[in-house]
Amino acid sequence: MHANRVATLGQLSASIAHEVNQPIGATLNNASAALHWLSKEPVDLEKARTALNRIFANGNRVSEVIGRMRALFKKAPLRKEDVEGLPLIRGDRVQLQQVIMNLIVNAIEALTSVCERSRELVITTAKGEPDSVLVEVRDSGPGLSSLDLERIFDAFYTTKPGGMGMGLSICRSIIEAHGGQLRAAADQLQGTTFQFTLPAQSNQAA
Ligand code: ADP
Repeated sequence: MHANRVATLGQLSASIAHEVNQPIGATLNNASAALHWLSKEPVDLEKARTALNRIFANGNRVSEVIGRMRALFKKAPLRKEDVEGLPLIRGDRVQLQQVIMNLIVNAIEALTSVCERSRELVITTAKGEPDSVLVEVRDSGPGLSSLDLERIFDAFYTTKPGGMGMGLSICRSIIEAHGGQLRAAADQLQGTTFQFTLPAQSNQAA
């Protein structure tokens, strides 16, 4: 068992080394290029900036790889808990699927404009307060201004060339018809979060 563990550790180190080696090499090359462009007469700021941007992107990649490895290790020992702890809700399955699909498609469309950082789409469910289920669709897209936050639920409001501007307005009607609420928030750093709640089935009704 001990030999096995040592072997696994060896493989793991090799794979970490492999994953971080490439971006670190690229960082060193770009740092040396940036120094070169900055010491030129006249200074080539544009090329120096490109090299620095690449250093930034590669640094992010390394930190993501390491972050994911950490998360992997943190999971041991496993902490087991109920994973289906959500209360039941009553609703029109197809309409609720339509809402989630709509929010996901909007998020993906928002993410297509992101090139400089990672494109993230996170969907979470949780128990909401009081006695409700909370569903969240969060993207790392360009986000929304406070003015947009008020208008996006209006019928026919769209910023897309081929858009109808009906999606969010229909989503809100569906959620409200189920006795819930749908709202949007612009994240402070980047991206948009849509949240909706649905009332949990009460014991009496059950
Ligand atoms: P459509 O997608 O046809 O434009 P919607 O009612 O679904 O209609 O969305 C209205 C507008 O809200 C979009 O045009 C867009 O400007 C904005 N929007 C919706 N979702 C997002 C999002 N995740 N990030 C940024 N803007 C969004």
